[in-house]
Formats: sequence, structure tokens, C-alpha cells
Amino acid sequence: MRTQVGIVGAGPAGLLLSHLLHLRGIDSVVLEARSRHYCETRIRAGVLEQGTADLLVASGVGGRMTREGLVHRGIVLRFGGRDHRIDLSELTGGRTILVYGQHEVVKDLIAARLDAGGEIFFDVEDVAVGDLDTAAPRIRFRRGGEARELRCDFIAGCDGFHGICRPSIPPGVLTIYEHAHPFAWLGILAQAPPASAELIYASHARGFALLSMRSPEVSRLYLQCEPAEAIGEWPDDRIWQELRRRFETDEGWTLRDGPVLQKGITAMRSFVASPMQHGRLFLLGDAAHIVPPTGAKGLNLAAADVRVFVEALDAFYAAGRTDLLAGYSAACLRRVWKVQRFSWWMTSMLHRSAEGEFFDRLHLAELDYVTSSRAAATALAENYVGLPFAPA
Ligand SMILES: Cc1cc2nc3c(=O)[nH]c(=O)nc-3n(C[C@H](O)[C@H](O)[C@H](O)COP(=O)(O)OP(=O)(O)OC[C@H]3O[C@@H](n4cnc5c(N)ncnc54)[C@H](O)[C@@H]3O)c2cc1C
Repeated sequence: MRTQVGIVGAGPAGLLLSHLLHLRGIDSVVLEARSRHYCETRIRAGVLEQGTADLLVASGVGGRMTREGLVHRGIVLRFGGRDHRIDLSELTGGRTILVYGQHEVVKDLIAARLDAGGEIFFDVEDVAVGDLDTAAPRIRFRRGGEARELRCDFIAGCDGFHGICRPSIPPGVLTIYEHAHPFAWLGILAQAPPASAELIYASHARGFALLSMRSPEVSRLYLQCEPAEAIGEWPDDRIWQELRRRFETDEGWTLRDGPVLQKGITAMRSFVASPMQHGRLFLLGDAAHIVPPTGAKGLNLAAADVRVFVEALDAFYAAGRTDLLAGYSAACLRRVWKVQRFSWWMTSMLHRSAEGEFFDRLHLAELDYVTSSRAAATALAENYVGLPFAPA
């Protein structure tokens, strides 16, 4: 088999890449280890920066998202028993965020690719990449028990943090920058109407909590917990009780509960692999970098890498240019590090850690500052709605 771009992974990065390449007349094949059903029902991110939503609309896959997504113009920071609203729109010249589940984006992209005759091979096994430093890299895999080989011009490693692409880069090429946060998130999806029209980020003496939503009927709620805790230690009643405590306000705010549809514990990690390229293998999305989810940036950062890579491939195929491919990693990493900074800042400001009372006071002062200074609130808002994109 042969294609121009062999893509490993049918998450948001791999699917969006395949879709945008198709619109530029560039062929790709997507290889995915899991089933289509698994990819379409994996609950993860849910906040799209305006730039990500605009990209989906402009590329023709935003129809259902525009109808069903929830446009948000602000977020709430809750601390000291009171709410402090950050008016994202007013602070950023009218920009907004869109609440629309990552698995819905994935569904829309899979449907668009298959409708256009695109090739996505689900349930493939033993994927391995090779000949990375030649002009004809290859991907070996098994499909239906049969060994196959895909020859390509380029390989896109879109296989997430635990994929095989990044570890296939020879030792000594990558520098890894990493920070493990001393807490985790317990997340639930609940059949309960969201108790707030906007996301609430709550900083409480017992730890951080986040109220988010996926639709007018389904809430997504998170609690800061210990990384070593097992989900079995958190029966539903305990989760709701803890959420009620952390969201309590002086005025007596009420949380709406309902059946828990899904729950899990996620470690909080900051990670960057640099450079995001070796030979003809390019890393995109979580394969190259992870941010803690507090700033809602992982999916958006994956989409930002895709933009840069598509422009670089287009320049290569249309005009034989290699300069944008050579600059891919540097162009992506400029944004990656700014987003790492923002995600780390939001995370440390809102969580309680064992650092001690001195740091708790600093974080409260930070919250006080960000909700009382227009300059500080604007800095939060412009990062939250998404930093602008530099021209290619
Ligand atoms: C609980 C949680 C909440 C989050 N909330 C947000 C949020 O609000 N906003 C936000 O922007 N981000 C959020 N994120 C982060 C976001 O989900 C990720 O950044 C995003 O999924 C990255 O997309 P990706 O395509 O790079 O990787 P992935 O979505 O991880 O996709 C990688 C794909 O590759 C496949 N794969 C892996 N190994 C192989 C292999 N060997 N062969 C073939 N296929 C393979 C996987 O099955 C998967 O389908 C959250 C993440 C979690 C876990």
C-alpha cells in the first residue's frame, strides 16, 4: 500500500489532519488501534477555543457542532464562598469558547472522512514505523490477522501520549521536559442538568473542583484527589458530598445531582518532547505534549499542531518547499510552551498542594488579583479563548 501521509492514531489530531489534507488534495491513510465505537465514545475534552471551532466550521465539519454546541462568553472563579465572573468576551473583543464534547468532534470527523471515501483502518495491531530518515518511511501493521505495509512520503505520529511513534525515535534525539503534579482529577459524567450556565472553577480549602457540562442535560464534574487513590474508594455518594462541600457558597448555592454515567481518575502531567520531528516522522498532539486539563487546552493544542503541519505539507506538495517542514517543530513549540505556562499557572493557582500555608495564601492572592485587575483578567481571558495564530 502507498499513500502520501501515513497517520498513526484516529484521535482529534489524526482525524483533523486527514480531513484537512483531503481538502488540499493530499492523500492519507489513518491507522487506529481501537475500534470505531471506542473512539466515538471515549469521553475526554469538551471545551473548544474559538479558533478550533472556527477551523472546524471553515473546513465543513462544524454543522452539528454549531447546532448542538454551547457558546460560552465567560467562566466563573469561585473562592472565599463567592463567585467572580471572568467575562471572556468583553475582555477579548467578543471572542468565545464552545462547549462540545471531544467524542462528538471525533464522530463528525470520522463521518466526514468516510463520506469522502477516506481510509481509516480501525482495530489494527502491532503498528511499527521505520525508515524514518529516508524519503520513503513505512508503517507495518496487522489487519484482520494479516501483516501489511504502508509506504508513505511522511508519517504523522498522532497516537497520543502512550503511542508507539515517539518511542520509535532513536535515543538521544529528543529532549523530554516533564513535571508530574502532586494531585489528580476524579471526573464524573452525570445525567444531571448543569447547575450553572457557565463553567465554575472552585478553589476550596478541601481542594479544587470544576463544574463543566456536555449538554443541557449532562454535567461533567471534577474533583482534585490524590494521584494514588483508586476509583473504588469513591462511591457516588461520597463524590456528590465532596462536590457539594467544595462548591458551597455564602449564599447557599445548590448543585444538581443525578445518575453517574461514567467516572475515572486522571493523573495531571505536564510534558513536552522536543523537537517534534525526526526525519520524515512528525509528532502532533498528545504524542508530543501533555498539559494538565485545568486550562482546557490539550485538544486545542493538537488542532494547532495540525494547522502548522498542513501548511507545511501543502507548501511541500504544491511548491516543493521544505522550509515550513523544517520549521514545523519550532513553530509548534512556541505555542506549546505558552500553553504549558498558562495550564501550569491555572493549575497551581486553583489547586491545594502540600506546599503549605504560605503557598495557599499566594494562590488566594493570585485569585484576588485576577478577579480585581482588568489587566490580569485580560491575560487569563486571552489565553483561555486561545492565543492568536501567527501567519504561516
Ligand atoms: C479527562 C480528560 C479531560 C480533558 N479535558 C480537556 C479539555 O477540556 N479541553 C482540551 O482541549 N483537552 C482536554 N483533554 C485533553 C485532550 O483530550 C487530549 O489532548 C486530546 O485527546 C489529544 O488528541 P490526540 O489526537 O493528540 O490524542 P488522542 O486523543 O490520545 O488520540 C490518539 C489515538 O491514537 C490511538 N493509538 C494509540 N496507540 C496507537 C498505536 N500503536 N497504533 C494505532 N493507534 C494508536 C489511540 O487509540 C487514539 O485513538 C482532556 C483529557 C482528559 C484525559
